[in-house]
Amino acid sequence: MSNGKPAADDADIRPGRLGKDELASNFADMHPPLTPSEAIIDADRCYFCYDAPCTTACPTGIDIPGFIQKIRSGNLKGSAHTILRENIMGGMCARVCPTEVLCEEACVRNTHEDRPVRIGLLQRYATDAVFKNNTQLFKRAPDSGRTVAIVGGGPAGLSCAHRLAMLGHHVVVHEPKDKLGGLNEYGIAAYKTPDDFAAREVEYILGIGGIEVRTGTALGKHISLQELREQYDAVFLGFGLAGVNGLGLESEPLDGVANAVDYIAELRQSADKSKLPVGRRVLVIGGGMTAIDIAVQSKALGADEVTMVYRRGQEQMAASRYEQEFAQTRGVGVRTWLRPRTLIGLNGRVRAVEFESTRTPGETCTLDADVVFKAIGQKVAWERLAGTGELLELRDGRIAVDEDRKTSLGGVWAGGDCVYGGEDLTVSAVQDGKLAALSIHKTLSERFLVGGA
Ligand SMILES: Cc1cc2nc3c(=O)[nH]c(=O)nc-3n(C[C@H](O)[C@H](O)[C@H](O)COP(=O)(O)OP(=O)(O)OC[C@H]3O[C@@H](n4cnc5c(N)ncnc54)[C@H](O)[C@@H]3O)c2cc1C
Ligand code: SF4
Repeated sequence: MSNGKPAADDADIRPGRLGKDELASNFADMHPPLTPSEAIIDADRCYFCYDAPCTTACPTGIDIPGFIQKIRSGNLKGSAHTILRENIMGGMCARVCPTEVLCEEACVRNTHEDRPVRIGLLQRYATDAVFKNNTQLFKRAPDSGRTVAIVGGGPAGLSCAHRLAMLGHHVVVHEPKDKLGGLNEYGIAAYKTPDDFAAREVEYILGIGGIEVRTGTALGKHISLQELREQYDAVFLGFGLAGVNGLGLESEPLDGVANAVDYIAELRQSADKSKLPVGRRVLVIGGGMTAIDIAVQSKALGADEVTMVYRRGQEQMAASRYEQEFAQTRGVGVRTWLRPRTLIGLNGRVRAVEFESTRTPGETCTLDADVVFKAIGQKVAWERLAGTGELLELRDGRIAVDEDRKTSLGGVWAGGDCVYGGEDLTVSAVQDGKLAALSIHKTLSERFLVGGA
């Protein structure tokens, strides 16, 4: 597979392994929405804690008891406002946040005898109507006359853009792809965000006005950081992780060996999943969220055998215990303490992978495969950013920022996956964008309004 995609012409890799009905059921909404009576019952379970630990655990600091109280009193619009004023992607986060390690883990009702309040589902219940009817809850402040460049139209960039637009600034989003949304549109598992929700949310965010979008525009190719600094009053970098880690094996360039994120993006954009080529035996190398997503989705597309192979134990996997169990209940096998040593090919196509034990030196095993997905992490694609990295202080290959998401370069802020020290979650990217916008606003106010320049 020289172009990074499984070839469709092999007997063991073919489209249409499952019928349309089965595919529809496998990719149906992972957590269907609550009915009104279910929502009231769950809202009633909340103790409305003072100094609520669930709010402290939320990276965007949503007033969780506050929005639950409004659901109880039937004020859904007010509830959605409480959520979205802290997290404009509160609709997506209600679907994709690992709540089991965030707000719901912190919920005081989360004990051995009880279960947490279903905060994620309640958040979805409160926000769904707003997105469905495109009800604008936020207004722009009067035009500030200042213009800010955003690089990257993912969660970090869009959150920053929305908050700046609210504060009256004009924003220009530069995005290479055709669609905005970043990994919400091209990465998150299809069963977490069905019905084109990512696109509807983007439409809602842009609905505030004052946000100009330039697709087909990449930093490093069409524009440089220096040009943006000269042309705009401030710059926000939210270009995520466009590079993918390789296995570092000489035998890697074989047909049938693909980057998990590339295949996931193809899956998310495909109008007809029955046309996607699917391997019969799929091996996934990695132990994070991307590995879980490609493994579960390969199974959902009809692969017979899907096995995740990880170099350490299940405890050390970046994927949460909940996600691991989810993958196992969807039929994914897991092998641990193994690292790939050689990809074994026949006529240029992968046939098997030889692994070595990371615990018992010299011990090896071979697993057959029609397709091998690499899911061992993403990185900033500095090589495509034409010297941008040399202008900024970096840490471990990502951008170093302070608590206001300011970089080492004057007038430049950054957030989301491309900065050092984050969680690599949608909700953290949204928080970074918000904090950067507030800091940009403060800086511009001091420079132009308060100072009267
Ligand atoms: C497969 C997968 C599944 C995931 N599942 C979950 C999940 O279930 N829950 C969760 O919370 N998180 C999940 N994540 C993580 C989450 O998607 C990210 O943390 C989040 O999208 C980061 O937002 P961002 O804006 O920093 O980056 P991105 O979403 O990557 O957006 C970056 C944007 O910048 C653009 N860009 C790239 N290069 C340039 C350039 N040179 N010039 C201009 N623009 C550029 C990109 O096209 C993109 O639109 C998942 C990630 C992956 C890979
Ligand atoms: S911790 Fe649980 S019970 Fe307490 S306010 Fe939060 S959701 Fe309600």
